[in-house]
Amino acid sequence: MRVPDFSGAPLAVEYMPDPHAWRGRLISGAGPGLRVHAASFIRQRRIVLDAALLRHPREHRRILVHELFHFAWVRLGSPDRATWAALLAREIRARARGDLGWSAELSKTALKPDDLAHNHRRWRRYLSEAFCDTAAWLFAGIPRHSEFTLARRHRSARRAWFGALLRRRPALSL
Ligand SMILES: [Zn+2]
Repeated sequence: MRVPDFSGAPLAVEYMPDPHAWRGRLISGAGPGLRVHAASFIRQRRIVLDAALLRHPREHRRILVHELFHFAWVRLGSPDRATWAALLAREIRARARGDLGWSAELSKTALKPDDLAHNHRRWRRYLSEAFCDTAAWLFAGIPRHSEFTLARRHRSARRAWFGALLRRRPALSL
């Protein structure tokens, strides 16, 4: 599949040693907060990556693609988000296990039974993380990874969904 031809305003990509997320901010070095590999600040159009990723080119690429697609997600629009939500709802009903990255998997395991019906923020979070992890699986050029645990038939459906999206919108906005 062709990589999307992104268009849009510039995005800043910065590197921080040992980033930790705490109260909506990123702090360098151990202390309070959760260790993260990356964070995106949508309104500031800024991505911050763990500087250690520079020594791991494959992981760097995978995580950067994931973060870039957070910007695509916020501009995707309701019709495409709705078909993505329907696809993932079918997976949940089919009791699909695993996912295509730790971010998606973590937000999937956090889901409660009524979250879909109530369009709870946990469900919306899962939709966006799965979108970004699926894009990273498709476009980072990494065919195999220990975090790619979703069954083949569900992967095929996600690939087909992205294929249809990019045929309609070859220049996705970020
Ligand atoms: Zn994410």
